[in-house]
Amino acid sequence: MSTDPAAVRVRFAPSPTGFLHIGGARTALYNYLYAKKNGGVFILRIEDTDKDRSSLDSFLESITESLNWLGTTPDEGPVVTPREPGVIKDKGGFGPYLQSARQEKGIYKEALDRLVPSGGIYKCYCTPEDLKQRREEAVSKGLEPGYDGRCRDLTQKEKEEFESRGIKYAWRIKTPDEGVLSFDDMIRGKIEVEARMVSDFVIMKSDGMPTYNFACAVDDHLMKISHVIRGDDHISNTHKQMLIYGAMGVPAPEYAHLPQVHGTDGKKLSKRTGAVSVEEYRDMGYLPGALRNYLALIGWSTEDSQQIFKEDELVKKFDLSRCNTSSGIFDPQKLDWMNGKYIREEDPRNLAKMAFRWLNEAGLIDDTDNIPRVIDAIKLEQEKIESLKGIPELIDFLVKDDIKYDEKSVEKRLKKDGVKKVLEDVVGIFEKAPDFTVPGLEEAVRQYVEKEGLGAGRVFHPVRVAVSGRMKGPGLFEMLEFLGREKVLGRMKYAIDHLT
Ligand code: GLU
Repeated sequence: MSTDPAAVRVRFAPSPTGFLHIGGARTALYNYLYAKKNGGVFILRIEDTDKDRSSLDSFLESITESLNWLGTTPDEGPVVTPREPGVIKDKGGFGPYLQSARQEKGIYKEALDRLVPSGGIYKCYCTPEDLKQRREEAVSKGLEPGYDGRCRDLTQKEKEEFESRGIKYAWRIKTPDEGVLSFDDMIRGKIEVEARMVSDFVIMKSDGMPTYNFACAVDDHLMKISHVIRGDDHISNTHKQMLIYGAMGVPAPEYAHLPQVHGTDGKKLSKRTGAVSVEEYRDMGYLPGALRNYLALIGWSTEDSQQIFKEDELVKKFDLSRCNTSSGIFDPQKLDWMNGKYIREEDPRNLAKMAFRWLNEAGLIDDTDNIPRVIDAIKLEQEKIESLKGIPELIDFLVKDDIKYDEKSVEKRLKKDGVKKVLEDVVGIFEKAPDFTVPGLEEAVRQYVEKEGLGAGRVFHPVRVAVSGRMKGPGLFEMLEFLGREKVLGRMKYAIDHLT
């Protein structure tokens, strides 16, 4: 495996929370697009140092599945295969890609050991209770609640004294007391904070676990990450991570902080305003291309506000410098609109493939290989499809032999005076029709309507309900041709005998 680093190496670094959140998916997508646009590498790293290992496998499986489904498969990262449960392999030459495995390998301990001689870090013996008490005191006096530097300049004797009492120590990094901490963000430009606002912070806890900031900086450095693209809730962490790079004496990556994704209520995206995970959208029958296209536009746009991006167009046009600095809104209605657009444009064969699980569940795929027929039925209903999941309901009467008659439709269209005769007449017309195709059928039925002096609806509506069991569907004559003479006559005769 080559360890020759590509110029652009970006990573998506979720903590295992159970599923891929919409906000996380947007971050992953921007990283992916940035990597692909620049011929770079997209890496998945799992930040699980403070997480219980037991749920890791299922998290990894679900996040991998979601990233694959969205078309943002990482080039490097941890891989699980269903054939070998519990076995996590590395794809790529910069592993392990799980922070828990990196911790086990002693990577953070080694990085810490390299920092000790610099004098830029120190042991802190303050217990959580001490810290809490001092923080509360500071706040009550109107002072900054950050660490007060108590252990910064302990003498050797003082340290020995703490240790003889069995007090464990954490490691803190010394932060400057004055001046400003600053970095250039690719989206927001210069971001500054007064150094005194960042007090000495812990990089290694007393239990030997690295803090998020330390593990993240060490890993970004060792994985040769060139650009860190993440949510703007991490801006204050970036200042801290820059200090860690400074202490390590290595250059920091470039940073781009993305604005948050909010719900239509302007608040943090939450269950209250709709689904929040990629899995949920997949299970509701959205097209991955539509969700991906929609996510790309939350917080980014082209100069001409292009809405729909075909195939590789997103990769070509994506531009970090055109990202917004204010939060983006996730609007399910707009996603629905986009999903509809994608469905109309999609090849019916692909729609059938993507909807396979639902078609199968609904018993629409049988073992006589009726898939071409299913595809043709999808084509007929394509204008009306709102989601992949909704396809079976729209096409079942076209594909199955038996249909269910919707009670309301029967009541409204069949249980009416005169309907029986109309249906009987139309049966006669259909029996005689020389060929069972749209133009001939349409002409014959329209002639009948005229001859009888009836409104078209008086004939079309009952015929539709008699052959489909419902009031909505594709064009009447297209539907009749699709079903064929035998099925149409069988259903009409049944309706005449039992439903009028
Ligand atoms: N693990 C962090 C999170 O899930 C991401 C950190 C990062 O991207 O640096 O928020």
